[in-house]
Amino acid sequence: MKYKRILLKLSGEALMGEQSYGIDINRVMQYANDIKEIHSQGLEIAIVIGGGNIYRGLSAEKAGMDRVQADYMGMLATVINSMALQDALEKVGLKTRLLTAIKMEQICEPFIRRRAVRHLEKGRIVIFGAGTGNPYFTTDTAASLRAIEINADAVLKGTRVDGIYTADPEKDPSAERYDKISFQEVYAKGLNVMDMTAFTLCQENNLPIIVFDMNKPGNLKKLAEGEDIGTIVS
Ligand code: UDP
Repeated sequence: MKYKRILLKLSGEALMGEQSYGIDINRVMQYANDIKEIHSQGLEIAIVIGGGNIYRGLSAEKAGMDRVQADYMGMLATVINSMALQDALEKVGLKTRLLTAIKMEQICEPFIRRRAVRHLEKGRIVIFGAGTGNPYFTTDTAASLRAIEINADAVLKGTRVDGIYTADPEKDPSAERYDKISFQEVYAKGLNVMDMTAFTLCQENNLPIIVFDMNKPGNLKKLAEGEDIGTIVS
C-alpha cells in the first residue's frame, strides 16, 4: 500500500447517483464496499462527505436566505450523508465512528482530534461530519483541515471525473488529463481542484491531493496500491 493513513473526500452530489436529489443507497453501498477493500489491507481511513445533494448555503443565500443560517443547514446536511455512509459501512462489517464539528450527542461523538486518531489506530473508519463547524467554509476545507490534523498522507478527492484536465473534459474534447501537477502550476493555470481556502491549506502543509473517479468500483484500491489513476497535486 502506498499510504498508511488517508482522508477520503466525497462530494454530496456523488451520493445522488442517478437521482436528482437525496441519497442513492446503491451508490453508498458501492462506496462502502470499495472502502472495505482498502481497509482490509491495513489502511487507516477517515472520511469527509459534502452536503450538496441536500443543501448548499451559497445557493440558499442567492434565493434570499441568511447566509449563516443556510450554511448551518448545509452542515447538518453533511451529517445526514455521514449517517447514511456510516450505516452502509457497518452493513459491510466495518467498525465506524462519526465525529461532528457541531455537537449532537445522541447520534455521534464531538470532534476531538486525539480521539479521532485513536479510533483510526484501532482500525475504525472515522467519518467527520458537519464540515468545519463554521459558516463560509466548505467540506473541501474541512477535508484539508482534518487531514492535516490527523496527519494523513494524502487527501483523496473522489469525484465523477478521473482527474484534473487542461480544460473541462465535458465541454472540450481535446482536454488532456494530468497524471501529476504541482500546486504552483494549478494556481498559474487557474485550474479548479478545490476552493482556494482548501487548496492553500494543503499547499502550505505539503499535503498531496489526489483527484480520481470514485464512481468506478475498484478505483480506490488501485489508487491505494499506487496505480497511476487520477491526478496527484503535490
Ligand atoms: N458548510 C459550511 N461550513 C463547512 C462545511 C460546509 O458552512 O465547514 C455548508 C455550506 O453551506 C455548504 C454545505 O455545507 O454549501 C454543503 O457542503 P459542500 O457544499 O462543501 O458539499 P459538497 O459540494 O461537497 O457536496
